[in-house]
Amino acid sequence: MKTQKLTIYFILFLLFTSCNKEKKPNEDNFQYLTEQFADLKMIRYKVPGFENLNLKQKKLIYYLAQASLSGRDIIFDQNYRHNLRVRRTLETIVANYPGNRDSEDFTAFMEYTKRVWFSGGIHHHYASKKMVPNFSSEYFINELMDKTPSSQEYSFPLLEDEDKMDLARSLDQIIFNPNIDSKRVNRDAGVDIILASANNYYGQSVNINDVNNFYPKGRDKAPEYGLNSKLNKDENGNLYEQTYKIDGMYSDAIKQIVYWIKKAKTVAENEAQAKSFDLLIEYYTTGDINKWDEYCVQWVQTLTDIDWINGFVEVYGDAAGRKGAYESIVQIKDLEASKTTEVINEYVQWFEDNSSIMNEHKKENVIGVSYKVVTVAMESGDASPSSPIGVNLPNNNWIRTDKGSKSVSLGNLIAAYSGAATGSDFLKEFCSTEEEIQRAKKYGDKADKLGTLLHEVVGHASGQINDGVGTPKETLKNYKSTLEEARADLVALYYIMNPKLVEIGLMESLECGKAEYDSYIRNGLMLQLRRIELGQNIEQDHMRNRQLVSSWAYEKGLKDNVIEKKIKSIPTLSDSGDTLALKKTFFVVNDYKKLQNIFGQLLREIQRITSEGDFDAGQALVEQYGVKVDTDIHAEVLNRSKQFDSAPYGGFINPKYSLLKNDNNEIIDVLIEYPDDFTSQMMNYARKYSFLPHIN
Ligand SMILES: [Zn+2]
Repeated sequence: MKTQKLTIYFILFLLFTSCNKEKKPNEDNFQYLTEQFADLKMIRYKVPGFENLNLKQKKLIYYLAQASLSGRDIIFDQNYRHNLRVRRTLETIVANYPGNRDSEDFTAFMEYTKRVWFSGGIHHHYASKKMVPNFSSEYFINELMDKTPSSQEYSFPLLEDEDKMDLARSLDQIIFNPNIDSKRVNRDAGVDIILASANNYYGQSVNINDVNNFYPKGRDKAPEYGLNSKLNKDENGNLYEQTYKIDGMYSDAIKQIVYWIKKAKTVAENEAQAKSFDLLIEYYTTGDINKWDEYCVQWVQTLTDIDWINGFVEVYGDAAGRKGAYESIVQIKDLEASKTTEVINEYVQWFEDNSSIMNEHKKENVIGVSYKVVTVAMESGDASPSSPIGVNLPNNNWIRTDKGSKSVSLGNLIAAYSGAATGSDFLKEFCSTEEEIQRAKKYGDKADKLGTLLHEVVGHASGQINDGVGTPKETLKNYKSTLEEARADLVALYYIMNPKLVEIGLMESLECGKAEYDSYIRNGLMLQLRRIELGQNIEQDHMRNRQLVSSWAYEKGLKDNVIEKKIKSIPTLSDSGDTLALKKTFFVVNDYKKLQNIFGQLLREIQRITSEGDFDAGQALVEQYGVKVDTDIHAEVLNRSKQFDSAPYGGFINPKYSLLKNDNNEIIDVLIEYPDDFTSQMMNYARKYSFLPHIN
């Protein structure tokens, strides 16, 4: 009865939502940033386009997402042999601790727990050092451990013959003693990088010589030996591998992964994908590393809207660079970006012919750069919560050379990062008018995306080097990257205010282009400075190029007031309660058409520098406009950004998928939600996807 009620409720829900299809949720108010703690921030990401997929594709995503999450425990165990015990203990306390949850100590405990979830264990995800809790060992043992009971859903991970206080004392050393297993990956000079690393890729007495002897240098086209195993030593000193496979190491999690891949196979998009699933299942079943290569070859040749990365993939977590960390990323081809890319490619010659660059620098047959954007639908393992923003796989070189590779940019994660960094509060602070804010909200995302595609597909493809002149790397040397990025940016900027883009359907109106100009100038002359310390010059190539383009344009437009520097006096309440007049600077674009023309002139000049290999002119441009920082503006930007102080590392809260079934128990839809609480997501995952023993 209960199930049926739920079904009716869901159908009502569905009817309700589908009636309101035109009334899309207000995208501008999507909350990207949910919380910050320690040096971390949590970000939600949207999965645009999910609702438009057909049922079969939605099911595929659901099954692959389940498979991904089923392996989640593996990365904790790979990172450190005690991580699962620590994590499960922390989770039991989070669920069941009956004492005061408002105390400073408990807040510190929650922060530590969230850091452990974020890092996949007790070592910092980036620095790889053991993290230091801000609560005491006494509080942990005598308060948290002593008072918290186990429950059915969350219970203490007791080993055989161990009681709760034994566990407490053992974890006390693991968590609080800085001298035990202090670094997850240790590549320091003078240490045995295997013995000194705390990760669980090798048995405790295995050393670097053992590793080097066990895995001889690979022959041609060798598979990635050792990728899917732990190398261990028995009491007689003999080395042996514990392979990750069904009935091997991590068997219980791998069985679940395989269960869901089999489901996924029933809704595979084509034969090639079904075959790739079969090979992956075979690999997980046998642990045969040659099967992994076979799978990768098949995967490279599989072209589908829904794709995924799954397996033991990246080897950064192993000091010897051999062992693969469990990772899973489910992705949807970004149909909008691919369509846009197609249109851009169709007109790529038109762009070249109509560019502001000199005729002799134009290519007669220009070919757009291939650039693929995907939308992430789920991440797990090594890719979650901290995620890459671009992926290029497979890793095995012979496959890359002989069969090719897939390189994708994770578009919705990049958008979420920037949404979290410069949300609406940022706009309010740095836009001069309400009109500018509204334009940014309405067109900002779209403009940003289109700008990126023009930059990548047309920008880097455009222009040619004069006969007899060397490559930019040879001629422009250390200024090459800045000038190349500036050139590609300028191509995008020059066209994004061209009515032709509206005519061919790439944007709905020139307002989109205006939003891009506003944002470029705001960022290039002010906002990006928040990322460097006061008194420093700009070193990073992309930042140099943005300031070069913006400040050159500002200077060239001065006489016509194309970009205006406005200083407003804003009444502000000081800490002591007095009203102060705070000086705030804004850069405002007054004439978009003239600014387009100025961008065109700079594009022409930088293309000339590139085509002729004019090092001196290139150097002068970068040094004069791109490197030095206006200290007053810089100080002001830092001051005004302080309120949005942002943690250096971001991680993502995954969407949640659920099945909608009818009374005959058939799946009629897959629903997506965007949870906003990291803690509940982690607690849910712990409850639903804990398949491994405490010690493996
Ligand atoms: Zn570029």
